Amino acid sequence: MISGRKLVLQRMQQVLRRSSLLLGTWGPVNAEFVNPCSSICSSRFPFFALGTSLHHERAHHSRSLQSIFDFVDLSEYFITGSDYRRAPKFQNYIGPVRIDRTPDGRGRGLYVSQDVEAGDILIINNAFAASYNDIHNSQMHERIAAILKDSPRALRQFYSLAADTQQEKLAVPEVELFDDSIPYHGDDSSTPGLSESKIRKIIQVNSFSGKLTLPGHQEAGRINGLWLLPSFINHSCCPTASRLLVGETMLFMAAQNMKANDELTICYTDCMAPLRKREEVLGITCCGFRCRCERCEFEQSIQKEVEDISERYQALYDKAVEEVTAVATRRDKGPYPACRELAVLFVKLRTKLDSMKELTKLQKHWILGGYSCAFLGNWLTTGYMSDFGPPCRHLDSTAIGLVEAMKVTVPGMQRTLSFSVLLATAVKESAERLRLVELALNECVKLYGKQRPDVLRKLAQDSVQYVPFL
Ligand SMILES: [Zn+2]
Repeated sequence: MISGRKLVLQRMQQVLRRSSLLLGTWGPVNAEFVNPCSSICSSRFPFFALGTSLHHERAHHSRSLQSIFDFVDLSEYFITGSDYRRAPKFQNYIGPVRIDRTPDGRGRGLYVSQDVEAGDILIINNAFAASYNDIHNSQMHERIAAILKDSPRALRQFYSLAADTQQEKLAVPEVELFDDSIPYHGDDSSTPGLSESKIRKIIQVNSFSGKLTLPGHQEAGRINGLWLLPSFINHSCCPTASRLLVGETMLFMAAQNMKANDELTICYTDCMAPLRKREEVLGITCCGFRCRCERCEFEQSIQKEVEDISERYQALYDKAVEEVTAVATRRDKGPYPACRELAVLFVKLRTKLDSMKELTKLQKHWILGGYSCAFLGNWLTTGYMSDFGPPCRHLDSTAIGLVEAMKVTVPGMQRTLSFSVLLATAVKESAERLRLVELALNECVKLYGKQRPDVLRKLAQDSVQYVPFL
């Protein structure tokens, strides 16, 4: 008997072959975009290889360094399928970022100290401590307690993290405290001693759990860890950065062009979800706070207008997940009542938005991005059954509009990348197809950094193994 996972991989191989042809013809055109600085940077810093200390050059060349392929050479790791067991080792790197107090009372945050481009690496941070399949964080707790006993600097770093969501009164540490290449001469007389309960609280508030993946996006377990400097990065439902886990190392990329003093933010939850769903996860399930980002404030202001759609969406979503999983893994032929009803809701939502003339294009994108799964459920079930052939083609214009909304709402997201590659294999118009491939490669840069063109093509091709719904 063939397992469900094997089946989905077989099915994805068919799509992959088509997307491979598609992406393969386009590479040279994109080479210039992918790394406009490559010729300059490679000749200026040919000696920088993985593991080279970056600190001394950082002050002068940090911007250029981020563009060098050799600086963080992830090519082989990506080309061979992003297997966490073969992840390269990194040195910590702090790019042009600083810690500062937020102007609106949220506490502390990370800000870029100069203009940066989408795909620039902002931070490379090894786990302070990590453990595997450690549901209650007990192994991680033991490891952290051992580290803190031996290192005054680690103790100071650790205690600078928040122990609850009330951060207003906490001191703002210098970013250099976290730069291990700078000698530490801290005055530790005021550093508090070890407290079991405080260690537990800090781990609870700041730790992160991520999937371990084998080639083909197969989940192989979970990693729990604490990453110190990234703990200062705040949540936003329209984030500016993307996060990539490579082994026990976290890399943060600018997911859009940013101006000096812009805040570096990430999503703590699935930000391609409607307001009520995000509120539920952020407030109850995960983090215990209410997001007041610009997108949340706007969506709150029009929630009454879409309340009926929102409630029905919430009621149907879990069932739709089951339906999409069934067709993606078993080629189950349905019917798909939840996906069908969600598709009707999506049309109703678009009609509603069209009637609200006062909304800006960005505001409409935020709403559509949040309800993207209402469209995707039906599109994907139809698509997986026909290998993205004719039956789903009549939805081209809506689908292409949705990709635009998704990339604007949450730049640098795996779901948008996978959707745009699948869509590129399905659309009729070659000009549209080319635009979608370009868009997919741009999303790749935001997600994975300024990698080589052949690496980006491989990442885009492989993205179809990820079902852009789950
Ligand atoms: Zn928000």
